[in-house]
Amino acid sequence: MIVHVTARWIVPVVSPTVRDGWIEVDSARGTIVGLGSGSVASGRAGQTLDLGDVVILPGLVNAHTHLELSHLAGVVPPAASFVAWVRALLQARRARGVGTDETRAAAGAAIASMEATGAVGVGDVGNSNAPVQPLAASSLSGVHFREALGFRTAAAARIAASTRSDATDAAEGLRAAGHTRLAISIAPHAPYSTSAALVQALQAGLPGAGGVSTIHVGESPEEVEFLATGTGPCRALLEDLGAWDDTWSPPRLPPVDYLQSIGALHRGMLVVHGTQCRDAELTLVRAAGATLVLCARSNRWVGVGDPPVSRVFASGVRAAVGTDSLASVDDLNLFAELAHLQALAPDLPAPALLRAATTGGADALGCGALGRLAPGASWRALVRRPPSDVADVEQWLVADAASTGDVRWLDQLVADAARRTHPGIHGAD
Ligand SMILES: [Zn+2]
Repeated sequence: MIVHVTARWIVPVVSPTVRDGWIEVDSARGTIVGLGSGSVASGRAGQTLDLGDVVILPGLVNAHTHLELSHLAGVVPPAASFVAWVRALLQARRARGVGTDETRAAAGAAIASMEATGAVGVGDVGNSNAPVQPLAASSLSGVHFREALGFRTAAAARIAASTRSDATDAAEGLRAAGHTRLAISIAPHAPYSTSAALVQALQAGLPGAGGVSTIHVGESPEEVEFLATGTGPCRALLEDLGAWDDTWSPPRLPPVDYLQSIGALHRGMLVVHGTQCRDAELTLVRAAGATLVLCARSNRWVGVGDPPVSRVFASGVRAAVGTDSLASVDDLNLFAELAHLQALAPDLPAPALLRAATTGGADALGCGALGRLAPGASWRALVRRPPSDVADVEQWLVADAASTGDVRWLDQLVADAARRTHPGIHGAD
C-alpha cells in the first residue's frame, strides 16, 4: 500500500531539508518511494497521513559500541589515564565474566535503550557472540564484529583461525534463522594489543576485498608513545598480562601511519577514536576512503582528552558517530553524543553532525538503505516533535533532542494508522 505522509519538516540528510513536506512510502516493500515539498503528494492511488508539527529524519546509526560490556554500566569509573582505565576494565571483566546470562540480559536492555533513543543501525564489537541473539531479535540492522587480540606474532594464525570460526558460527546461526539485517565480520582490537601479523591475518579473512572491519586507533597518548618508542604504560600492561613479545620492535610511526604500513587502512575500515590524530593522519584516512568513528564522551571518560572534532570535519574524512560501551559512557543515546560533539566544535554546522550520525555510519557498515530519506531507502525513519517555535530544526535535533523522550517511528505510525483506520488516514482521491 502506498501512503503519503505529510509533516512540518523532513530532513532527508542526503538532500536539503524540506519545510511542510511529504514522504510517500510503500508499506508492502518497507521503502520510501518519494518525497517533496507542499502538502499534496503525487496523484498515485494511496492514502494520506498527516503527522502534523513533527520532523521526519533517518534513524541514527551507532557505529561503535560493545554491547557485551553493558553489564559493566557504572562499574568502571572515569579515569585520569587510559591504561589505568583499561586495567580497571579488565579487572571488572574478570570479576563479572563475559558471555553469561547477565551479559545477555544487559545487552538486551542496552539494545532496547538504543531503539528508544532513535537508533536504527549498529556496529557492535565483542569478544563473544553473546549480543548476537539479542541483536537479531531487535529492530536494529548492522554488523557484529567478532574481535581478536593477541600481541605475540607466533599466535597470530591460531587466533585468526579461531576468530574466523566463531564468526562463521554466528553467521550460520543467523542464516539458518533466516535473519538478514545483521551481518557478522571480524576485527582486530588495537595496535597496542594486536600484532601486525594478527591484523593482517584477519584482513585476509574478511568476506571479499571490500569487507567491513574496524579497529581502535589513535585513542590514547600512551598508544602514540608505545608505537613511537616501544615504551610506556602500554608496554607495562602487556608485560603485566604476560602478553609481551620479545621479538617485537616499535614501528616508530604515528598510529594511522602504522595502520597504513601494515595494509589495514582501506575503504571498509572503521577507524575508531582518532583522538590523537594529527592532520596528516586524517589525510591518510580520507585518502584511503576509510571512516573515522568519533566516540567523544567515552574519550573523556577514559582519560584520553577530546577528539579533534573541527579538524576531522574540516579534513573531509568520512565521519561517523559511536558511543562506545556502557563501561565508558552514561548511555547509548546518539542524540546526547551529537550534543557533546557540537559543544566541542561550536562552529560545526548541525547538518554535518547529523550526516555523520546517519549516512556516515550506515555507509561505513554497508547499510545503504539506512541513514537517508530517499527513494528506495528504508521507511524505518525517526519521527520527533520539536517545540512549535523552533526556527532551525537541524540545530534543535543536534543540541536539544536528547532530552525529550518523544521518539517515534514512521513505519509504526503508518502501520498503526492503517490498522486502526485512524481518522487521520483516508483515501487520497
Ligand atoms: Zn571500543
